[in-house]
Amino acid sequence: MRHFFHGGIHPTDGTDKDLSSQVPIRIYTPKVVEISMKQSPNSVCKALVKIGDKVSKGDIIGEPVRFGASNIHASISGRVIEIKKIVDTMDREIEIVVIESEENEDPITPSIAEYNNNLVDLSSYSKEMIIEKMEEGGLVGMGGAGFPTHVKYQTKEIINYILINAAECEPYLTCDHRIMLEYGHAIINGVLLLVKAANAMKAIICIEDNKKDAADVLGQIIADKDLPIEIRVLPTKYPQGGERQIVEAVLNTEVPAGELPAKIGVIINNVGTAKALADIILGNEPLTSRVVTVTGKVKNPGNYLVPIGTKFTELINESGGVTTNNCRVVEGGPMTGSCLFIGENTDTLDESVLKITSGILILEDTSRYETPCIRCGACERVCPAGLAPFKIDFAALDDDINLCNKLYATECISCGCCTYVCPARRELAYRITVAKNEMFKIRRERGA
Ligand code: SF4
Ligand code: SF4
Repeated sequence: MRHFFHGGIHPTDGTDKDLSSQVPIRIYTPKVVEISMKQSPNSVCKALVKIGDKVSKGDIIGEPVRFGASNIHASISGRVIEIKKIVDTMDREIEIVVIESEENEDPITPSIAEYNNNLVDLSSYSKEMIIEKMEEGGLVGMGGAGFPTHVKYQTKEIINYILINAAECEPYLTCDHRIMLEYGHAIINGVLLLVKAANAMKAIICIEDNKKDAADVLGQIIADKDLPIEIRVLPTKYPQGGERQIVEAVLNTEVPAGELPAKIGVIINNVGTAKALADIILGNEPLTSRVVTVTGKVKNPGNYLVPIGTKFTELINESGGVTTNNCRVVEGGPMTGSCLFIGENTDTLDESVLKITSGILILEDTSRYETPCIRCGACERVCPAGLAPFKIDFAALDDDINLCNKLYATECISCGCCTYVCPARRELAYRITVAKNEMFKIRRERGA
């Protein structure tokens, strides 16, 4: 069977993933959490609590003020001790609710609930009920985009397939790999709920062949059960986990430019989203925790199940601390993550875990110096979106937004393949992403 998508790269030999993939998930419950009212780039909520309020884990503490956001819940029980305010890159004021646990908070414990160990009867759950619970429980795409899941399922299109993105193609990250190994039943229960929520024919769980053990675990759970679920093992290649790339690789078709996958009858969810849905509906726990990979230049790399709002500094210290003098701290993976810090003392990091935080990656800082483009065409050959990155880059450097538009810069998925292969070390993906965001901003202002 053909499993192909245009472009792409093989950025590493996979040993980076071995740093954390072999260690069972550790559980860490902090005394204080700092929960941002912006859990993903385009989602802003308003805090519903004030300093001094007592909250219980699972209480709604933030509600959306704009499309693209989801409910935010208290991730530990305790008292609100501070509401910080910061200004984001789009000049929006963002509140951060700081909660301190008052008693000895029950640590997060691996659930012994039925749905974590068996496939359960889902016949009493209707499509409408599942979508309503997604919204109440603050479910978002856990793979990085953070788009509210219930909105995807309110589509009027007929959905045939749910693609479960378990590719985890970014180097270093292994949180999805570990949850497949350790929470297989919860994932399959969650996938079945997603199929019901869309009235879909079936779900295809897409796993790269560097995680065959995970495919085996999930395969054993569904074996001989006549479920609308298929497990598809794909050749490892980056960025397999991109929405358009996974559709192309698995279904051998393309999502038309400017359209959502639902247009061709497909919804794509991250495997972590499937597990979180099972936790919401079958475990009665809104989205208040997640698994985060802490890896790279730390003493004991691994994966942590933590409450949303856990400080990055605590997780880095919990992993034994940084093992290099000059480091870069990246939120997410090395290809698409954001660099938060360059320097020596990571204790100054202010960030805390969001619903979309898949990893905290510590890299040795190495300087990059750009040289002129030599027109080798390598960036064009690997671009999975079929773009000419060097041409868009020149247009972006000239502030020529019209030309960026003509070169389809908005189709860029910010995968970083072009930057990775460029022999001139040009920061193509960064500049193209900035230009793309500017184009989206102009479109929003024009109401388009
Ligand atoms: S132009 Fe965008 S989509 Fe194409 S390789 Fe670069 S970052 Fe990826
Ligand atoms: S890979 Fe770098 S040097 Fe080659 S064409 Fe693209 S921008 Fe120019």
